[in-house]
Amino acid sequence: MVNYFRLSQEAVAALADCYGTPLLVVSLEQIERNYNLLLEHLPGAKIYYAVKANPDERIIRKLAALGGYFDVASDGEMRLLSRIGIAPERMVYANPVKTPNGLKVAGQVGVNKFTFDSESEIAKMAAAVPGGNALLRIRVDNPKALVDLNKKFGAYPAEALALLHKAHAAGLNVVGLCFHVGSQSTDVGAYLNALKICRKLFKEAAAAGMNLSVLDIGGGFPMPTRTEKPDVAAMADAINAAFKEYFPATEIWAEPGRYICGTAVNLITRVIGTKLRNNQQWYFLDDGLYGSFSGVIFDHWDYELETFKTGKRVSATFAGPSCDSLDIMFKEKLTVPLDIDDLILVPNCGAYTSASATEFNGFAKTPIVVWEEVYEAIKPKLELATAG
Ligand code: PLP
Repeated sequence: MVNYFRLSQEAVAALADCYGTPLLVVSLEQIERNYNLLLEHLPGAKIYYAVKANPDERIIRKLAALGGYFDVASDGEMRLLSRIGIAPERMVYANPVKTPNGLKVAGQVGVNKFTFDSESEIAKMAAAVPGGNALLRIRVDNPKALVDLNKKFGAYPAEALALLHKAHAAGLNVVGLCFHVGSQSTDVGAYLNALKICRKLFKEAAAAGMNLSVLDIGGGFPMPTRTEKPDVAAMADAINAAFKEYFPATEIWAEPGRYICGTAVNLITRVIGTKLRNNQQWYFLDDGLYGSFSGVIFDHWDYELETFKTGKRVSATFAGPSCDSLDIMFKEKLTVPLDIDDLILVPNCGAYTSASATEFNGFAKTPIVVWEEVYEAIKPKLELATAG
């Protein structure tokens, strides 16, 4: 049973006291544990962290120090990593449809690994970075994933060979294939199926004179939800066994986002208003749908709210602090009755949360502190609370 980063009630109170609310708290030790676990069960794979899941600089620096690689989606992410001092060789520009500005920055920064899934992308890549390394993204449908990316991306396997030939003819270095089984994919069968598809394509490419050397299995590794605790180690073991069978001499890359950062962040938010409207209890929080709870919309996520209270539960609506009526996170959520100023802990909210937050209505994005750095500051308060 894996234990993830979860603040105690005393730590929540002490942090709220010291830093105010709303507050995001990231544990870089949890980032390290997640990275190491994946690497341990996918030995030899290059782990390209998908920066889009949480682009916090401290997370990126931590992964860079651990020897990680990075999946970047835009000019902004390439610039950010470059500014931090991460070498372009450690980045793959894994957006199948790239912007002119993205390609320009890739050329300036020196990023020369790309993914693509359509013919129109070939000339763009070849012009921006002549001789660049290209991976063809293959469509691997997986309706079971929480976010099925294959409706938007991936070439049909039947088109693959022709696209590889065209990329080669355009002067690109055609190095391999990639796929993404969809985000929060708890079914290892989706990966194994994708590996079978790619194995067949590797063979067909070799028969046509193109020896592919890299397989990028994308992201998708799941994190715990309120009801499910997926065993990522077991999933990775099964995937690794398939590598040994189908891809013994192939360089393997993975692009996990959610799995690396999701469990490493806790949100502390506060009740700022209570109302009874149409016989329904409403609670207003100081973080909302336009802020750290943006994943309710963009990531289809249902967050756990830990109130540290016990008693009979009521059905309530939870809304954010903005003046917009869309700013409602949960309806008919069961909760113990709450009062103004009550603190709520939201664990496991590091992926696709702050990354898609806005400053709508003039609310600043929720500040993020590093648990291992702030711990010393709140230690006296914690000791006092424990002694009391
Ligand atoms: N790689 C690519 C190309 C993606 O588009 C994404 C997510 O959208 C990821 C990796 C990360 O996926 P996940 O967070 O499910 O691991």
